[in-house]
Amino acid sequence: MVMKMANRIPQETIDQIINNNNIVDVISDYIKLTKKGRNYFGLCPFHGEDTPSFSVSPEKQIFHCFGCGKGGNVTSFIMEIENLSFIEAIKHLADKSGDSLPDEWLNRQQGPAYSNEDQSVLKAYEWSNKLFHHVLKHTKDGKDALNYLKNRGFSEEAIEHFQIGYSPRKDQFLSTFLKGKGFEVENLVQYGLLSSRDGNTFFDRFQGRVIFPIHNHQGKIIGYGGRSIQDDIQPKYLNSPESKFFHKGKILYNFHQARRHFQKLNQVVLFEGYADVIKAYQAGVYHAVATMGTSLSDTHVKILKQYVDEVIICFDGDSPGKEASYKSAKLVNDAGMNARVANVPNEMDPDEYFEKHGSEAFQKLIQSAESYVAFSLQYIKKNYNLNTDHDRVQYVEKALDIIATVNQAVERDFYLNELEETFKLDRSTLLQEIDSRRRIMRRSKDNDNHVKKKSFEHNNWNKPQKLFSAYQNAERHLIAHMLQDPYIADRVQNRLGASFNLEDHQVLVTYLYAYYEEGNEPNVSRFVERLNDGSIKQLAVELALMPINDELSEQELDDYIHVIKKESDSSPELRTLKQMLKQAEKENDHQSAARIGMKIIELKKKNMT
Ligand SMILES: [Zn+2]
Repeated sequence: MVMKMANRIPQETIDQIINNNNIVDVISDYIKLTKKGRNYFGLCPFHGEDTPSFSVSPEKQIFHCFGCGKGGNVTSFIMEIENLSFIEAIKHLADKSGDSLPDEWLNRQQGPAYSNEDQSVLKAYEWSNKLFHHVLKHTKDGKDALNYLKNRGFSEEAIEHFQIGYSPRKDQFLSTFLKGKGFEVENLVQYGLLSSRDGNTFFDRFQGRVIFPIHNHQGKIIGYGGRSIQDDIQPKYLNSPESKFFHKGKILYNFHQARRHFQKLNQVVLFEGYADVIKAYQAGVYHAVATMGTSLSDTHVKILKQYVDEVIICFDGDSPGKEASYKSAKLVNDAGMNARVANVPNEMDPDEYFEKHGSEAFQKLIQSAESYVAFSLQYIKKNYNLNTDHDRVQYVEKALDIIATVNQAVERDFYLNELEETFKLDRSTLLQEIDSRRRIMRRSKDNDNHVKKKSFEHNNWNKPQKLFSAYQNAERHLIAHMLQDPYIADRVQNRLGASFNLEDHQVLVTYLYAYYEEGNEPNVSRFVERLNDGSIKQLAVELALMPINDELSEQELDDYIHVIKKESDSSPELRTLKQMLKQAEKENDHQSAARIGMKIIELKKKNMT
């Protein structure tokens, strides 16, 4: 049988690129993986979950999610998570591993992952940014802006790295440029690139502003932050409006570049503005992101939780900044992550702090961030007049709520000590209060877990872990062995050929025989690379990860084949009927389907007696 090529890059090149991209390393760039036994586990990036059911096998170089059923090799993963075509995914991996692709492949445009209009908007953003960056760095128009940035402490290197630009103070500078490039400028108004008063004439929305491009998490420019450098241009800060691409509640500035630095410290630094992130970069703090002029959202926290255990919050030192720090830290803490707050002194911005004190001090500021509890206990004091008994009691109640969330007894003790001393309280009363709070927390957590566990079991029931009949189980186990041993595949081929009872199994083994006949080694990752059908691919991965013994004894092999043959021999009639039923269902012929269904039931009854 000739295998259909999924693409036209030579297979050896693809194999080599896949070989050079270890699946554990590649996936670790996106989610946090923990080793358990032979495999790694993490929270599935493809469906929302709180208990890890996403597993990666370093031996087999494949991944599989027991929750949603997604699975495949390293290319499947990249295609899915980056929303890329096969060829784009191979290019992406080749970039990562430093493999070279034949020239003819590098220039070829492949099927778009975005619609034509979407692509055109993204292209317009990209071109505009090139133009603005050029204006800033190399033209007279950009000179003031460049001086402004330099005076504000932005380095040349950072201006390059973050592709900062300047939109000159001209009504139709950008719109003329984009028209010349063939863009339909009417379209670009709703995406905030241009403005229009009457729907006929278009002018530049960001004129007179320094431009900070905002990328989505895949690295495409989807919006701008604009900072005016002249007093008469108001407001001082102007962002792109919310659009199909730009959702403030989902986007974190610099996420696409910071992501690869998360793993090292298992930590992310969160700022309020892009200028802070850029200064952090200059100070050597690369794992930094910022919310885009909005407060930290549940979605932001969920995204970060997939990558790190700890969030260091570094907001402005003034009172709105402190308030936002407190709220964000609570959100992070409630999500079960470690929150810490960096205390920027004297009502400064992190950005200003860097300018005044330099890299080393800036790094220290981040490293010495306080724990959530220490920060909160201090922060909430301002709401109480601790000279009155009433407020003192209220404060202690609130403080106990916070201390009760700490899981380490030693740390709880430390804060209780402080309360005891400051307010002259009885230690045993404090301990009782903490105990009762923790009991309530445990109870509601147990309830939560109970619900989660139930829904997880429910998922498993629906998705992969169905109950299988004896012959289905025999076929699954046999294929699992065949995937790791060509000799077993060879013997099954001689005795059974492709006459497995389930159609998917027939297809899968047919591909597998061909794969071995081409002289390939057992290698699931490579094998699935050659499969075009997504559901067959997922089946192969699922079976490859099924726990089986390393060896298959002669007796077991015989037993499996016996069970499979018995099923197919016993009921050729049944199989014909089942195929007819499928056909009738496909054609929506309900009457025939019902009639055939009855026949099947009768036949099954007869077979049982
Ligand atoms: Zn999943």
